[in-house]
Amino acid sequence: MSMMPIDVHSFYTPEQFKRLKSLADTKETPFVVIDTKMIDEAYTELAKGFPTADIFYAIKANPAPEILTLLRDRGSNFDVASRYELDKLLAIGGVKPEQVSYGNTIKKAQDVRYFYEKGVRMFATDSEADLRNIAKAAPGSRVYVRILTEGTVSADWPLSRKFGCRPDMAMDLLILAKELGLEPYGVSFHVGSQQRDIGAWDAAIASVKVIFERLKSEDNITLKMINMGGGFPANYISRTNDLATYAEEITRFLEEDFGDDMPRIILEPGRSLISNAGILVSEVVLISRKSHTALNRWIFTDVGKFSGLIETLDESIKYPIHVEKTGELEEVIIAGPTCDSADIMYEHYKYGLPLNLAIGDRLYWLSTGAYTTTYSAVEFNGFPPLKSYYI
Ligand code: PLP
Repeated sequence: MSMMPIDVHSFYTPEQFKRLKSLADTKETPFVVIDTKMIDEAYTELAKGFPTADIFYAIKANPAPEILTLLRDRGSNFDVASRYELDKLLAIGGVKPEQVSYGNTIKKAQDVRYFYEKGVRMFATDSEADLRNIAKAAPGSRVYVRILTEGTVSADWPLSRKFGCRPDMAMDLLILAKELGLEPYGVSFHVGSQQRDIGAWDAAIASVKVIFERLKSEDNITLKMINMGGGFPANYISRTNDLATYAEEITRFLEEDFGDDMPRIILEPGRSLISNAGILVSEVVLISRKSHTALNRWIFTDVGKFSGLIETLDESIKYPIHVEKTGELEEVIIAGPTCDSADIMYEHYKYGLPLNLAIGDRLYWLSTGAYTTTYSAVEFNGFPPLKSYYI
């Protein structure tokens, strides 16, 4: 197979890359540099694609105050996964509790109470025990029930199985919510992160429609909201359709199923807003072969699975790696710096790195603004958490 070097300019304009690199050049590796202007542009594109939807940024993708402040100023709402995220969000100031949804279905009763005391009145759920906790700790609040989705195979980072319940159970929970004095508000789903099959939204919206109709006709419950989660794409090595195509198709699915009776639509983007705005920069620590005859070189770098690159697990997310050297490429193994044999990012980085790559050279991991700093361990093997810098 002939290998092609990663073309950084198919991911960043020359100006964008220049801006990111000029900050990167002044810093010691490893770190992520993020251009908030690119996040601003991604937000504009999403809002344009879904002009009537309410955006709830999924803070877990990257909770940096620079990002939260920017999105607050753009009028975004926030999907919050824990009280610690809520604290971070409220610390920036100017965010009203109505702009917050507690989107994690796994939570303690005291966490629900904490949100309630801060004024939050919208909660996700997918189980009876959690629903009863919400009824006690957050009386009268709006609840929406998350349903299971298909699409595991076509999502690079699936979020099924652990979250959501079957539609018949969702209906029972919404009926119970009303009995418990809560407001049965709507239904949510997440088709899986980096979802490559737009049809996954079609199937999920069709299930939601059945729930809306049955509850209305059989139980006199009118639901008001669909939370379509995240799953919108970032640019990694293998491309998907662009966001405008996702928006067009998904809007068509919604119109086919709900027509003039459109409920409130909520989106919870993480990856699609943030990933492309960031570049993780690492340095080559060591290059070796395991024997004189071994085919592949091992490239050890100063960032690894435990310091931000966990989404390379099973090679799920294939980050494009840019290097400054050019020349003949060779397939390599790329591994992190810790004393753990699980700390290998790619066993076969078949896009190749140049044969003349040397110790001390920098690797530019493109599209790494989301799900990197937040996944970085505090002190595994003594390495500090991944640093990040914002333009
Ligand atoms: N909403 C919820 C409840 C999630 O768990 C996640 C990701 O884990 C997101 C939204 C963000 O999804 P994505 O990064 O695919 O946009």
